[in-house]
Amino acid sequence: MRTYAEALEVLRSRTRPLGKEAVPLGQALGRVAAEAIRAPSDQPPWANAAMDGYAVRSSDVHSPEARPLLRVVGQVAAGQWPDRTVEPGTAVRVFTGAPVPPGADAVVPQEDVVETSEGIQIRRPVSPGENVRPPAEDFSAGTCLIPVGRYITPADIALAATVGRDRLWVYRVPRVLVLASGQELVEPGQPLEQGRIYDSNSYFLQARLRRLGVPVERWSFLPDRWEDVRSTLARAFDRFDVVITTGGVSVGAYDLIRKAWEALGLETLIAGVAIKPGKPLWVGTADGRWAFGLPGNPASAYVCLEAFVYPWLWWVQGFPGALPYRFPVTLGRAVQNPGGRTFFLRCRLHVRPDGWYAEPAGPQGSHIVRTTALSQALVVVEPNARWEAGTVAPAFIPEAHPLDLLLAEVP
Ligand code: AMP
Ligand code: MG
Repeated sequence: MRTYAEALEVLRSRTRPLGKEAVPLGQALGRVAAEAIRAPSDQPPWANAAMDGYAVRSSDVHSPEARPLLRVVGQVAAGQWPDRTVEPGTAVRVFTGAPVPPGADAVVPQEDVVETSEGIQIRRPVSPGENVRPPAEDFSAGTCLIPVGRYITPADIALAATVGRDRLWVYRVPRVLVLASGQELVEPGQPLEQGRIYDSNSYFLQARLRRLGVPVERWSFLPDRWEDVRSTLARAFDRFDVVITTGGVSVGAYDLIRKAWEALGLETLIAGVAIKPGKPLWVGTADGRWAFGLPGNPASAYVCLEAFVYPWLWWVQGFPGALPYRFPVTLGRAVQNPGGRTFFLRCRLHVRPDGWYAEPAGPQGSHIVRTTALSQALVVVEPNARWEAGTVAPAFIPEAHPLDLLLAEVP
């Protein structure tokens, strides 16, 4: 059986971006850039005033004891273009953001000026460049503002708008279907017959994917009957880029998902991974489309989603470096992982002044749902680890998205 790292690498090496589309700037948040945005010109493009005040020649004011009188010959507001030069002995009234007129090399705030009917007097020395924002201080023409593969943040959108872009090329988001399987499942809200359980997995998956900005559809359950499973998966595969099922991938007589996908011609990439929980995970692909068969136990489905589906979602959107970031957390208790599988330990986080601490959030059985709800971190415990309390261990923090992607991107 493959290790977690090996299985991830198989998945990554086979994943290609789905394609590109141009979207209006207002819809680019959380998407992955498919084009590099370069600055077409310097920013700011011209020197401008950082304060409301007067544009002056600093050489006119080098001996403030003399308090020379400067004649005010005009004014420029933000949005206007200066129509005169500041000659020696003169000043131009300017407002924040206004272009600094030629001749002037400093802006004196209005608070530092005495206004008289003949002109202005300045009470202090003025240095060249004071309160002037020089051209290209922010960035110069040709600078790469947004590289290909960047996960787009609100500030990136501001950059794109700053250089006048109204549309951006981004990678396409996969169309996702979630589909729970198992004849024991009942829709929440319906009466529960003896022996049956409510479906929670597909609601979890749908909520989690929505949190990540991925549009997702949910169909009702797959029963454990061969013909139904086969025909429903065939229909689903035609309509979606990825079909995520839960249940039916272990070795029981009713576990039909893998067989059905293989009968439909999918190539098996992953069939079992040395992780706990989540060992029965199955992943297959054909023609650039994908199927994830997550195990039915709720904690297994959760871990497989975070450990595999989550990074895959970004790889398939053209961000090959995406991984769940491993945040360092200090263990509040000793942790042992005697088996040969990577153990994802659901932990509660405590943020203290000296760091982040993690404690197991409750019983760790793969059928236990409440521990997941009480946890904020999945501590990644390597096989055979025996970690003392106080050890700094790596943890996925699912709700830290998108910070985790932004940290993964910066070298
Ligand atoms: P399976 O992977 O089909 O063998 O299912 C493993 C366990 O997970 C069984 O106890 C199932 O009843 C439970 N299970 C399967 N699907 C769901 C679901 N959608 N919601 C909650 N529990 C489930
Ligand atoms: Mg089942």
